Amino acid sequence: MDYRAARASLIDHLSSEIRDRRVLEVMARIPRERFVPPEERHLAYEDRPLPIGFEQTISQPFIVALMTQALELTGTEKVLEIGAGSGYQAAILAELAGQVITVERLPSLAEAARTVLGNLGYHNVVVHLAGETLGWPDEAPYDAIMATAAAPAVPPELVAQLAIGGRMVIPVGSRYVQQLYKITRQKKKDKIQDLGGCCFVPLIGRGAWDE
Ligand code: SAH
Repeated sequence: MDYRAARASLIDHLSSEIRDRRVLEVMARIPRERFVPPEERHLAYEDRPLPIGFEQTISQPFIVALMTQALELTGTEKVLEIGAGSGYQAAILAELAGQVITVERLPSLAEAARTVLGNLGYHNVVVHLAGETLGWPDEAPYDAIMATAAAPAVPPELVAQLAIGGRMVIPVGSRYVQQLYKITRQKKKDKIQDLGGCCFVPLIGRGAWDE
C-alpha cells in the first residue's frame, strides 16, 4: 500500500476545513500507520477513528487537526495531553510545541505509545501512567491542555493546571456524544467556545466517569 499517497490525499481533504498550515504540514509528515495495529493499517488514512485495543480508539484525523489548531501552538509551549492512547496526537503536539507531557491510564497503551514515540525519535515527549488526580499536576502550569477522552463537565482540576492565557480543548457531554469545548483561562472569568459536536471514549477517574 502507498501510504505516502494516501496521506497526501487525506491532508488535501483536511485542508478544506483546517486553516493552520503548520498543523497540516506536520500531519503530512507523521506516519499514522505506525500508531495503529497491523490489521488496521490499510485504513490509516481514512478520515475516521480506528480501534487500538482495550476498547479505545485513535481519534479521527479531522478532529485531531481541529483540536490541535485550537491550541494555537507556536513551538515553545509546555503541553499536557490526557489520554495518550496510540501516541499519535502526542507526536503531532511534539512537533508543534516545546515539550509534551501525556498521561494514559492503561499501562499497555502507555508502554506501546512510549515505544513508537521513541522509535520515531521524539525526545520532547514523556508518557506517564495516570495517577489519582486528572492530568499531571506535578508539572503544571501548562500553556495548553488537550483531553482526548470525554468528561461529563469541564473538570476544575484540569482548568487549575492551565496557565493564565493558556488554552484547553476537551470533549464535554454524555458518555457517547459530546461538544468540543475550547477554554481559555483568564484572570477573571474563563472564556468558553463551542467548536462543534464530537464522539470520544470516556475520561475515566475521579472528577470524570466511573469505569
Ligand atoms: N490521543 C489518543 C487517543 C486517545 S483515546 C491517540 O492519539 O491515539 C482516549 C485515551 O484516554 C484512552 O487510551 C484511555 O485509556 C485514556 N484515558 C481515559 N481516562 C483517562 C484518564 N483519567 N487519564 C489518562 N488517560 C485516560
